[in-house]
Parts: sequence; structure tokens; C-alpha cells
Amino acid sequence: MPGCAVAGCRNLSKNTKGTQIKYFSFPKSDIAKEWVVACRRKDKINLKSACVCSIHFEADSFQIPLKQKLLNYTPKNARNLKQDARPTLNLPGKKLAVTPGERSERLHKRKQKAENKDIVDSILSQPSSSKCQALEEPTYVANTVNVAMEFQENM
Ligand SMILES: [Zn+2]
Repeated sequence: MPGCAVAGCRNLSKNTKGTQIKYFSFPKSDIAKEWVVACRRKDKINLKSACVCSIHFEADSFQIPLKQKLLNYTPKNARNLKQDARPTLNLPGKKLAVTPGERSERLHKRKQKAENKDIVDSILSQPSSSKCQALEEPTYVANTVNVAMEFQENM
């Protein structure tokens, strides 16, 4: 039964059956060395049999088949790694990384804060995408809507 080679990771294929965790064997290229480093194992890793589980790879490390891209449906357990993918997440010695989805959302929020001056434009043009902003600063959004309404009345 293959298990994850990353030190401290307890994922074993028999324990993660039915989950979206997948196991990837080490690449046959030089990149395998970087995988070994990322695993931080004190013992030697048998590259032929060792695997690294999918929680250590960022979302863009995966190859999404065109068909799934077009259907906008990508089951995580059907994903394959790109040839140059390296384990970068949930590695020993680092804090547990947030999932790629959460992180991009956080970046998105941070970006929105930086673009506060453009906020009126973005709220007016993309009402559906400004939900998180509305949760954070309800009064600000309400004011903006009032302003927009007054503006329309004045026209
Ligand atoms: Zn793992």
C-alpha cells in the first residue's frame, strides 16, 4: 500500500480511500531531487516505489484535460500532475498551508482592499462579485448604493 513520502504526512492510500487525495509517484526526471528535498525525510526514499500525496501540490500543478476544462468539471481525484510539478504545500518545517482556493480568495480580498479607490466602479459594474466586500463593509456599500441612486434621480 503506498503512503505519502513527505515527513510528517500520515496519508496512506488505504486511509484515504474514497477521499480526493491521490498519490503520485516520483518523476523520472531531475525534478525528483527536488521532491526528495521537499519530503525532508531522514531515511532514504526509494524513488521507484515512493509516492507523494496530492495535498502537497498547488492547484496549478495539476493538468486539467481539455474536456474537463470545457465542461468546467474537474474531479480532484481525476487530475494528473504536470511534468514539472513540485510538492510545495503542507511540507514539514512549514506552517500548514491553506488550500489553494482559500489562499487565492484571501489574495483577492487583499487586492480589493488595495484597490479601494476603484471600489465604486467595481460595485456598480460587477454587483455579484462584490459580495465579500459587502460583508466586510456593509455601511460603505450601502452609502455607495444610495449615492448611485441619488445620482440616477438627479439625471
Ligand atoms: Zn502527503
